[in-house]
Amino acid sequence: MSTRRRLRAIAARLRRAYGEPPEARHLPPIDELVLTVLSQNTSDVNRDRAYADLRRALPTWEAVAGAPARTLVRAIRRGGLALTKAPRIKAMLRSLAARGIALDDPKALADLGDAELWELLLDLPGVGPKTAACVLLFSLDRPHFPVDTHVHRVAVRLGLVGERADAVSAQALLQASVPQDLVYPLHMNLIRHGRELCAARRPLCSRCVLADLCPRVGVREFR
Ligand code: SF4
Repeated sequence: MSTRRRLRAIAARLRRAYGEPPEARHLPPIDELVLTVLSQNTSDVNRDRAYADLRRALPTWEAVAGAPARTLVRAIRRGGLALTKAPRIKAMLRSLAARGIALDDPKALADLGDAELWELLLDLPGVGPKTAACVLLFSLDRPHFPVDTHVHRVAVRLGLVGERADAVSAQALLQASVPQDLVYPLHMNLIRHGRELCAARRPLCSRCVLADLCPRVGVREFR
């Protein structure tokens, strides 16, 4: 079976198992960018708490860009890794402002073409392909396929990418092969599958709707 046919089969099974994923957030691009940085190495709940705290403490992105480091660290501490994320967010916003981008315009970045926006995002300090793809997909409905730790693990186990592919190369491979109409639902349902069944330590292969499509089923040792 070709990779695209397998991807369609996998997406259809996951959709039957988990249903249609909830609508994308459609936050303004800069909001999505900050939210994505806050989501690193934490749960969705803590990410959302940190984001709400940040918006309450510093209601504009201009204010965040100009805030003292300790104020910003305090505002996002419930999201974890605040000492790392605060300078990253600040540097990102300052870099955007230095390019003449109005940080608090909800339409900022939205009128850039795909390639231009992709390049600009990757040029920001601390922004990699996953974060850039999240902004394009969740904010602007553009079909870019973010690969996080769950998507990466499940894609490797399913043989959609090679064992040695890291998350960045897995994203490039999947970006080239996932049909555009499947980008959002497949991304969302692979995350859910990775969280609920295909967990890092003990995947529940006996309950998996993808078992007959998965070369790893029955393998005892999982990495
Ligand atoms: S069969 Fe097991 S390893 Fe394969 S996708 Fe399902 S849970 Fe993951």
